[in-house]
Amino acid sequence: MGNEKQILTDGFGRTHNYLRISLAERCNLRCTYCMPEHGVDLTPKEHLMTAEEILAIARLFVDHGVNKIRLTGGEPLIRKDFPAILEGLSALPVKLSITTNGVIVDRFFDLFQETGLQDVNISLDTLNADRFFTLTRRNHFEPVYKNILKAAALGFNTGINVVLLKDQTEAEILDFVELTNKLNVRVKFIEFMPFAGNKWDLSKILTGNEVLEIVKESYTTSIIKLADDRNSTSVNYQIEGYEGSFGMINTVSNPFCQGCNRIRLTADGSLKNCLFSNIETKLLPSFREGKDISPLIAGAMGRKKRMRAGMDTIEQFSATEKIEQNRSMITIGG
Ligand code: SAM
Ligand code: SF4
Repeated sequence: MGNEKQILTDGFGRTHNYLRISLAERCNLRCTYCMPEHGVDLTPKEHLMTAEEILAIARLFVDHGVNKIRLTGGEPLIRKDFPAILEGLSALPVKLSITTNGVIVDRFFDLFQETGLQDVNISLDTLNADRFFTLTRRNHFEPVYKNILKAAALGFNTGINVVLLKDQTEAEILDFVELTNKLNVRVKFIEFMPFAGNKWDLSKILTGNEVLEIVKESYTTSIIKLADDRNSTSVNYQIEGYEGSFGMINTVSNPFCQGCNRIRLTADGSLKNCLFSNIETKLLPSFREGKDISPLIAGAMGRKKRMRAGMDTIEQFSATEKIEQNRSMITIGG
């Protein structure tokens, strides 16, 4: 491979070995922070990657140094051909993981075990069924919660993604931390990020630091700071003697772009060099014409900015025009 691997190194010397693939733009939930109330314009099916295309493009990335793939969406598990995609990917020399809303994930636990997928992140923003309905516009709290318990019991490396919403999540922080007492799960508190149509503004931000302050008030001396990986997006902690851990993803208040190793492939086969970039590189049309897409990938990596697609300051980050030009999270693949 030699020099070839360098197409995934950007102008700041960051090497990208972690590919997040969105398998679907559709979803069986309607989270308010993820998509506009009226829904999103869906890409016609013929412009979405087929299972074969996903596998072939993923293989190309692996040939260039990717060794970690996370499947996401939309909801990745609603794709009918999900089993075939996972089986195909499991033949590649990569560590596989998934982010799912957990509604139907129990149907796939056997498949995950067969294919060696061990990292399962399930999104759950509240432990209250009524609030779950308000946030997701669907009534599926029970299955999601039960599936988190099942995933942990089956020994999956189980994460719980919690989006932090000001004046809402504060009251549940300690309940989530307490969940890690007897349950070996990693709770990830994620700062609310701006995307098209999600009515974001700075006043709705509950920061990772504010979360830590809430935890400190109750646990004073028993909070242990865990070592974070070089490429970690979260700052991680554990309460002494507890099975699980918790961490904060401070994308808005304290971005972690310096160690970024992530790139994203959208369901319609576009490469996003940053979650916040509204400039995408369409790979699928050229791929379908049988062209070598490596130069397109290299070009996209060369254009990657130092921080949050060029929004270095919080003021730039809050500029709504730039945000509205980006996709909604549901069609990016978080
Ligand atoms: N449907 C799957 C799920 O919900 O886990 C996978 C896709 S979802 C877009 C991936 C992650 O992005 C979820 O954990 C979700 O909570 C998070 N997310 C969506 N919109 C967000 C936003 N505006 N700010 C922060 N996180 C967000
Ligand atoms: Fe669907 Fe996940 Fe977005 Fe919620 S966060 S609408 S579950 S894609």
